[in-house]
Amino acid sequence: MLIVPEREVAGLMTREAAFTAVEQVFAAMANGNAYNFPVVREAIGHEDALYGFKGGFDRTGLALGLKAGGYWPNNLEKRGMINHQSTVFLFDPDTGKARAMVGGNLLTALRTAAASSVSIRHLAREECKVIGMVGAGHQATFQLRAALEQRAFEKVIGWNMHPEMLPNIEKVAAEAGLPFEAVELDGLRAADVIISITSSFDAILTADHVAPGTHIACMGTDTKGKQEVSPELLSKATVFTDEVAQSVSIGEAQHAVALGLIREADISQLGAVIDGTHPGRQSDEEITLFDGTGVGLQDLAVAAAVVDLAVEKGIAIEVDF
Ligand code: NAD
Repeated sequence: MLIVPEREVAGLMTREAAFTAVEQVFAAMANGNAYNFPVVREAIGHEDALYGFKGGFDRTGLALGLKAGGYWPNNLEKRGMINHQSTVFLFDPDTGKARAMVGGNLLTALRTAAASSVSIRHLAREECKVIGMVGAGHQATFQLRAALEQRAFEKVIGWNMHPEMLPNIEKVAAEAGLPFEAVELDGLRAADVIISITSSFDAILTADHVAPGTHIACMGTDTKGKQEVSPELLSKATVFTDEVAQSVSIGEAQHAVALGLIREADISQLGAVIDGTHPGRQSDEEITLFDGTGVGLQDLAVAAAVVDLAVEKGIAIEVDF
């Protein structure tokens, strides 16, 4: 069995490799060659932790396995460790034998950033100058860095409930040589692309805040009850997702579907646009919205890619198992 420790992932994995892995697995999901297993998520009654598994099988990429992990809210304060902890386990689909164990913390950030980035590549208008961020936490920096590679953006604007966090994304804009402006929510009408990545439980973005032709990637809502955009905005948009079942249960679409404003059948898989069976954006006026809920297959795809890179560079640790 191969081990790729968390400490090696940063030196091995690239945004480009994460993009390719996620784009391919989204397409495989849409054409029926990859599927996610039901998600397990439990409050374990110890350390206030939420623990669970996300798994699946991709017959095209031959990635079989799961990501195990979750959220330990006391880690940082008590132990100086990050609160989100995860590990990916890959199995040989021919034999069932364990193939690899891979640190999943940085990979989770990279695969999530790759998802909104893939949505921008396939759904945003070609001519995009301004990108708007809603959220400025840990994950927002990853989303922005990856998104900036998709279009020739000239400016970053941002809103955050906690304005003191905005320098996090200002720094990423500066790295790319772009100006940054903090805006009120209605200032987001200047954006061609908007990414929302917050822990909000109430709608932040409404239809009034979004100009025609915008592409929105909603990335924060990954649990029942969370919400970043108004259901009315979803009903005005053409909605895409990574997985429809998750979109309507734990994703942004849960609210609009519950209110009867959109139906499950109105939501398309982004993978169908990637593999050419859905036309994607059809006009410059259309608002497209990607509901990125985060699926286990994304984790397996980036983990398999990093194992390949680790083997290539002689960094993977081999153990008898
Ligand atoms: P973080 O704690 O570093 O940042 C949280 C962000 O949410 C900050 O911008 C903060 O100001 C904002 N926020 C907090 N409470 C809010 C509220 N009540 N209303 C509005 N904004 C609020 O967290 P992070 O690591 O950046 O993750 C952000 C979100 O992304 C989390 O909810 C996480 O579950 C989600 N996430 C989703 C995926 C996915 O695949 N879709 C993957 C990773 C993380």
